[in-house]
Amino acid sequence: MRVVGRMVIGGPAKGDQGALLPETRGGECEPVVEAHARRDRVTAEALLSLANALAEVQTRGDVARRLAAAVPGVAACEHAGVWLWDPDAECLCLAAQLPEDERGGDLACQLLFASDLVELPELVREPRPFVVCLDRAGPAVRKVMEMSGLRRCAFAPIVARGVFIGVVAAGFDDRDGAVNDTGLLTRIRGLADQAATAFDNADLLERLRHQAFHDGLTGLPNRALLEERAHQALLSLPRSGRHLSLLFVDLDRFKNVNDTLSRRVGDDLIREAGARLAGCLRASDTLARFGGDEFVALLPDTDHPGDAYLVGERMLAALKHPFVLAGRAVFISCSVGIVTAPDHGRDFATLLRQAEGALHRAKQAGGSICAVHADTASPAQEDRLELEGQLHLALERGELRVLYQPQIDLNTMRMAGVEALVRWDHPVRGRLSPDDFIPLAEESGLIGEIDAWVRSRALEQAARWADAGTPLRMAVNVSTRVLRDPLLSEQLADLLQRHHLSPDLVELEVTDRVVMDDAQLASALEPIRRLGVRLAVDDFGTGTSALGRLQRCSIDALKIDCSFVEQIESESADAPVVDALLLIARSLGQYVVAEGVETVAQGRFLRSHGCHFAQGFFFSPPVEPDEIEELVGGDPLPTTRDGKALTGS
Ligand code: C2E
Ligand code: CA
Ligand code: CA
Repeated sequence: MRVVGRMVIGGPAKGDQGALLPETRGGECEPVVEAHARRDRVTAEALLSLANALAEVQTRGDVARRLAAAVPGVAACEHAGVWLWDPDAECLCLAAQLPEDERGGDLACQLLFASDLVELPELVREPRPFVVCLDRAGPAVRKVMEMSGLRRCAFAPIVARGVFIGVVAAGFDDRDGAVNDTGLLTRIRGLADQAATAFDNADLLERLRHQAFHDGLTGLPNRALLEERAHQALLSLPRSGRHLSLLFVDLDRFKNVNDTLSRRVGDDLIREAGARLAGCLRASDTLARFGGDEFVALLPDTDHPGDAYLVGERMLAALKHPFVLAGRAVFISCSVGIVTAPDHGRDFATLLRQAEGALHRAKQAGGSICAVHADTASPAQEDRLELEGQLHLALERGELRVLYQPQIDLNTMRMAGVEALVRWDHPVRGRLSPDDFIPLAEESGLIGEIDAWVRSRALEQAARWADAGTPLRMAVNVSTRVLRDPLLSEQLADLLQRHHLSPDLVELEVTDRVVMDDAQLASALEPIRRLGVRLAVDDFGTGTSALGRLQRCSIDALKIDCSFVEQIESESADAPVVDALLLIARSLGQYVVAEGVETVAQGRFLRSHGCHFAQGFFFSPPVEPDEIEELVGGDPLPTTRDGKALTGS
């Protein structure tokens, strides 16, 4: 609203002067001198009661409410409002009004910008009282006034120690003619001045409160505030049946930064790390700085105890990219100790102690990991923890490998594709199979990173083979933990494009033991489907796949689990489950890959029962890429192994 061109700053408008003053509402007049005396008395009482009221208030909102309430007493009006200046947003914000519910829902009246009130900048610079008349008000202010039936508003600035902090306004309808009272603006200004000190005190109190509960360096809540919030949350926990977690976070080798760079750089790092860690939390969570390089996060309300672990993993990830400090890149990681109530304790002190203990174990395992409190860590757990700590580094150190196991087309007896299977070449323990570390990676959330790395290697390899004229379908396992991550389809799209790889050469294997309902799974798989990538149900028959799910998720292939293939003892054996699985696949138009084929009998059985593809030690174990190339270049596979031909009689 371009209102205020017409608003009168500095006093009543010229032509209005002297046209006074029906002081009583009913319209009957009393002598002017008596009226003034009465007005002075009322004003004095109003000021006194405001002074008393203000002595008790603690917040700006309280002060604003008391101030608005005092306006009718001195201005003989029914409408009053207090707007406070927000210097960041450069606008006036409605803080209190009378009558209270008026215009409550209308945002237009709650915020006044310079675009609404052209004199606002001048008012901020040089605060003076003024009057706005309806017929001269711009559209927005006019709307506000019309909605309340007002014809004139008298405004007085609130100024504390020379700084403009807001305005108090008295609004008059036709019957309140007092807007032309020459003393009116002075009286309202008197109210404003009195309130100014109270606003100032409220600000001071607020600052003190903030200081008492916040850390000076980072501005984050401090230990006292975290403890207070934890107590509150713990009180409501037993009734809610939900979980509360504490994550004790400590930066790894932070002392090095302080020692080698400077304390100032160390401070900058703490601030930035605090901000990144806080960014991993929800609005209802609290991150506190406990001093030094220690932070504690409170998750007051989670569905599942495991949720805290995911947050911890997010924190580890948040510190991964370097901090640019004093013109150089600084790398720092953190360790996290996690406890969850009610499982690990019910009071703050116990929980904190245990979180610290878990943190200690995370540090002992080499840092840069999350450790969950364990009541008494068994040797096996210690072992796992150690392995988990090392797994974090395995990727960086290049200790992971991808092997490829052939999948044979049972019609042509040639290799049609491969499955990528990860291995960990542990520096001490030697080559570890996925069963030794994939469950660990899934528990700790590392699986996302590992799977992404395997995919990137495998797709690059698939492109190399395709470019060399021997296209092989590349099957990669995807953990159900990362199925819902939108990064999965983004990464796939990126890899396909980067390597100019046809999407139908890529097959994602999703295990049948996935714990999602059909609709969830279908929507998680949708972006992948849209890429044109194939989908296979791994370990088919061991999980929950119903026909409906297979149809809804547009699955391309079923992989019959080893445990069923194992049951095929001879070529003429009875293997009703395998038959049933083959039948399901046929009816849905899906192709079948039988896993774990170890004998010629199993191969022959599968071939004669209409199974399309087979994979197993009978043909080849998982091997290095160059061995795949040799196998592709050679004779049809089964005849090269032990001379046993599936096709022969
Ligand atoms: P899977 O997806 O069912 O993979 C097939 C497993 O069966 C492989 O074990 C393979 O080496 C093994 N196998 C192949 N032929 C035979 C056979 O004739 N007989 C027997 N008994 N076993 C055979 P591996 O490589 O140890 O992988 C184990 C599991 O680890 C995989 O089972 C898969 O669930 C998981 N895995 C492997 N690599 C990855 C990966 O990159 N990401 C994810 N998320 N999981 C993976
Ligand atoms: Ca698989
Ligand atoms: Ca499998």
